[in-house]
Amino acid sequence: MTSGSLLRLALAGALASGAVLTAAIPANAGKAPRTVPVRLLALNDFHGNLEPPSGSSGRMVDEQGNTVEAGGAAYIATHMKALRDKNTIAVAQGDLIGATPLISAAYHDEPSVEFMGKLGLKVAAVGNHEFDEGYQELRRIMKGGCHPVDGCSPAGKWKGASYDYVGANVLFKNRNEKTDALAALGGGNSPKIKKLLSDWGVPALPPVSIKIMNGVPIGFIGLVTQTTPNIVTTEGIKDLKFVDEVKAANVASKLLKLVGVKAQVVLVHEGDQVEADQSPDACSAVPGAGNRIATQVDPEIDIVLSGHSHQAYVCKVKDPAGRDRLFSQGGSFGRVITQVDMKVDVRTRDIDRASVVADNHVVTRTVTPDPEISAFVQTWKDRVAPVANRAVGTISADIPNTAAPSGETPLGNLIADAQLAATKEGGNAQIALMNPGGVRAPLSYASSEAGEGDGVVTYGEAFTVQPFNNLMQVVTLNGAQLKTILEQQFTGGPNNQAFTKILQPSSNFTYTYSQSAPWGSKVSDMKIDGQPVTDTQTIRVAANNFLVGGGDAFLGFTEGTDLWSGPLDIDAFVDYLGQNNPIAPPATDRITVVP
Ligand SMILES: [Zn+2]
Repeated sequence: MTSGSLLRLALAGALASGAVLTAAIPANAGKAPRTVPVRLLALNDFHGNLEPPSGSSGRMVDEQGNTVEAGGAAYIATHMKALRDKNTIAVAQGDLIGATPLISAAYHDEPSVEFMGKLGLKVAAVGNHEFDEGYQELRRIMKGGCHPVDGCSPAGKWKGASYDYVGANVLFKNRNEKTDALAALGGGNSPKIKKLLSDWGVPALPPVSIKIMNGVPIGFIGLVTQTTPNIVTTEGIKDLKFVDEVKAANVASKLLKLVGVKAQVVLVHEGDQVEADQSPDACSAVPGAGNRIATQVDPEIDIVLSGHSHQAYVCKVKDPAGRDRLFSQGGSFGRVITQVDMKVDVRTRDIDRASVVADNHVVTRTVTPDPEISAFVQTWKDRVAPVANRAVGTISADIPNTAAPSGETPLGNLIADAQLAATKEGGNAQIALMNPGGVRAPLSYASSEAGEGDGVVTYGEAFTVQPFNNLMQVVTLNGAQLKTILEQQFTGGPNNQAFTKILQPSSNFTYTYSQSAPWGSKVSDMKIDGQPVTDTQTIRVAANNFLVGGGDAFLGFTEGTDLWSGPLDIDAFVDYLGQNNPIAPPATDRITVVP
């Protein structure tokens, strides 16, 4: 059934039974059930972890306070089956795809989206990472078709996601853009909906999805962090704007109300931090962007399921009308499933807030993995093995991605060197800068694949470090602009850097920063190849397209001119590993810190 016909069913049901039930209450009192049960099973930030995630990404503190191994598609499937009852709707809060392991990324995450379909997922909010390959690619993932460059995957023509993606705060910049995002609202043709949307904007994605459970419609509102333009590649989202989550949720809530849907659930890809090692069912979330949304959205919204910060919590917050509202998140990488049970009043069609109970379940690996999903994952593992196991270079010792006091990491420095090497020729790069958050894993001498400790780096291991398929780019900046970018590493400036983020410099670029100096005068003594940098000299600076687009609040990069685009960052890294054999961990002495 299409969501349009579901809606008509819901509306017909709402009108008919509303009238009938009101009249019938005295006679039926105490007989017909006044409420029906609904269960939600929710996941967030899966990030394509079809295989059990390793290291700290695969561990979780459970409800007894023990640290246990958690995650993996076949284990998720077993847990989901055990938790699922006939009243269940499975939902997700974004970042299911993007920043994924090679098994998923090599096929543009089609394997992960197919797995979510097999799990019975019905609705997912988009996360920022759903936009990693751009809006058009997200539409292909939603609707089907083969990749425009890489063609069809070994599984054949992509059929499209079997669940709805929703994102109410994702609008077209151009108000004349045509939208096909309003199927769940009967095409959006009712005069009241038209009026509401003409004041609001043109949705680039379905803002809501309506699912019927036990005769009552449940409305799901999707939201993604409004910071998305700062954390994805600009080119892919240039036609979109990401607006305030609370305002968008309130418009979406009104849209649902206009079609008679009063049981309303927000799926939001934004969340808060928690205290270390807390129980997944504890609250103690540090109030942040997630709490703001959970407390401020319209009182008609009953439940707020969150994501993005990769934390597990179950909180009760107050809505603007002073009533309790659930606010929760289920960790990341498929390590937690959030179960939400509630009762919905069949007359008012609203959720009985007092009945809402939530529980975070850790996806342990002590259960029998689901055989069908195990076979599915093995199929993709076999397909990607020749790609993943190819040796691309050797290292002489572990190369960690943990920061020295200067903020440099050995692996970050190595990647900056690789990026400079890859962009010198075509792009005339003189230095390279790498964003620290893009160094996703360390390189270990004892290979995790075979455990033989021979220092061999495989393509799969290199990809785990650099999984984003960013393009290398080079722009021209002057010395003053370069200094501004380095100032933008620190909090307190007009670029609104949320945390200090030290860019990893290539070995030929050195400078000093002062911890105590005010923002704007922290950086001094910049040198390239030992020569002092003047304010007016021009410098060709290499960085990935995420940074060059102003990512991570490094807005200074957008001042760059004479843009040149080169190879993928993963190719630059792999080439460098191949050409410098074996590689020793670089020193972290490029930046000098003074008090
Ligand atoms: Zn995210």
